[in-house]
Amino acid sequence: MKSSSLPSPSTAAVIGSGFGGLALAMRLQAAGVQTTVFESRDKPGGRAYVWHDQGFTFDAGPTVITDPTALEEVFALSGRRLADYVELLPVQPFYRLCWEDGTHFDYANDQAAIDEQIAAMNVADVEGYRRFLAYSRAVFDEGYLKLGTVPFLHIRDMVAAGPALARLQAWRSVYDRVASFIQNDKLRQVFSFHSLLVGGNPFETSSIYALIHALEREWGVWFPRGGTSALVQGMVRCFQDMGGELRLSAPVQRIEVEGARATGVTVAGRFHAFDQVASNADVVHTYDRLLGHTPRGAANSRRLQRKRFSMSLFVLHFGLSAPQPQLRHHTVCFGRRYRELIQDIFHGHEIPDDFSLYLHAPCVTDPSLAPPGCSSHYVLAPVPHLGNAPVDWTVEGPRLQDRILDYLEAHYMPGLRASLVTSRRFTPADFKDELGAHLGSAFSLEPVLTQSAWFRPHNRDAEISNLYIVGAGTHPGAGVPGVVGSAKATAGLMLEGLA
Ligand SMILES: Cc1cc2nc3c(=O)[nH]c(=O)nc-3n(C[C@H](O)[C@H](O)[C@H](O)COP(=O)(O)OP(=O)(O)OC[C@H]3O[C@@H](n4cnc5c(N)ncnc54)[C@H](O)[C@@H]3O)c2cc1C
Repeated sequence: MKSSSLPSPSTAAVIGSGFGGLALAMRLQAAGVQTTVFESRDKPGGRAYVWHDQGFTFDAGPTVITDPTALEEVFALSGRRLADYVELLPVQPFYRLCWEDGTHFDYANDQAAIDEQIAAMNVADVEGYRRFLAYSRAVFDEGYLKLGTVPFLHIRDMVAAGPALARLQAWRSVYDRVASFIQNDKLRQVFSFHSLLVGGNPFETSSIYALIHALEREWGVWFPRGGTSALVQGMVRCFQDMGGELRLSAPVQRIEVEGARATGVTVAGRFHAFDQVASNADVVHTYDRLLGHTPRGAANSRRLQRKRFSMSLFVLHFGLSAPQPQLRHHTVCFGRRYRELIQDIFHGHEIPDDFSLYLHAPCVTDPSLAPPGCSSHYVLAPVPHLGNAPVDWTVEGPRLQDRILDYLEAHYMPGLRASLVTSRRFTPADFKDELGAHLGSAFSLEPVLTQSAWFRPHNRDAEISNLYIVGAGTHPGAGVPGVVGSAKATAGLMLEGLA
């Protein structure tokens, strides 16, 4: 039941159209709340932005789509089907993991193939992997299925989760846990790198993030036909079909507050009244820029700026005039150092001389993303955020680009430079300037135990009672399943707030 003092129907503003913002907007609109999404850029998607260039499609960010059930649930709330808006194609293997000595590991949802490859590296680790998988499944049940969409507003929520976290030894790091089951160095990399996908240092982030392995084994790895942007477009169309409104090129300047309530948002100097406001923008940007004129905004922004932020990424998109049949869709190219490199990425003050890369080859799954006979790609290297390494990316970007292209040509893509048609860079400075990301972090607050669950910024503000947060900066955290889960937690609170 809606409060009688609220206009009917109730209205909500969602600031930002990342996966979290869109999933929240769909949930609210499906529940009958007239919802408007304000997006500062010219296209929706946030980190899942897209560029089109000379017939090449370049997805900006997420390419490993996991837990399709969470997305299907969002469409189903309005009686619609995700499959009617976008086709998800299975990706096999999930990833190919490669080392400089020429060895590789194809990680797929095929127990026999996994066992065989593990045995070839270290027979004893076949049994160790089984125990790791059982552990990962236990963490997945507890951390994802039970707690992934539940808001942690009160310390008692954290206390209630305490026994399970203790049982799962959540204070240990992902790598530490993996190493307790698996002996081989390369296999330890294979089963511990996943936390990097959500901005977590495997040597420091809680072993709770080992759940990603079980999540992938459970539901597979998918890629939308037409690229990740086709999934974004599908969500936008579904939202609009329900009557929701998306305003592009509409940066919110301020969240207006009276007493302990948000009254609406100011866009291009004009005030828009709403019953509830949710921000999908960077959390520091939200409190510092959008609420900096309020005591709550100023104080919370100072507090948040003292937190630890995830690393940034250097992303290079490029189109080639040749196909690359030797590649798999997702390749992780491990460099010569693992632990030491990750240490430099999270704590170093300059761009490391070496790198580990993720290489995207989407035409393997969907050739329509490049002109006939061509291939589109991106390659990313994790790099320190701007707070740790305040380098001039206009100078360092072209240098790193050259080093990475040389490396790819030598190890993975012979003839790369001769077939290069187009390229574009997205650097930590772009994360900061284009997305408003604090310190140019690619994944918001670092997912360490002391910044997770109740310790992470809450899905509802503690003082402004109708102001909400959704996306990577709140519970449960970054990654598409994470932010879609945060939308469920936040929507639950918002609908409760209208009751
Ligand atoms: C290169 C890269 C690769 C990744 N790969 C994967 C992957 O394969 N799988 C996976 O699961 N995850 C991946 N991730 C992580 C995942 O993409 C993110 O965690 C997730 O998409 C973030 O979603 P979000 O809801 O937090 O919003 P964001 O994507 O951060 O979007 C926030 C939006 O708010 C807008 N905004 C900001 N300020 C304002 C304002 N004042 N007014 C209006 N709008 C504003 C921004 O323009 C932006 O569109 C990747 C991330 C990156 C960067």
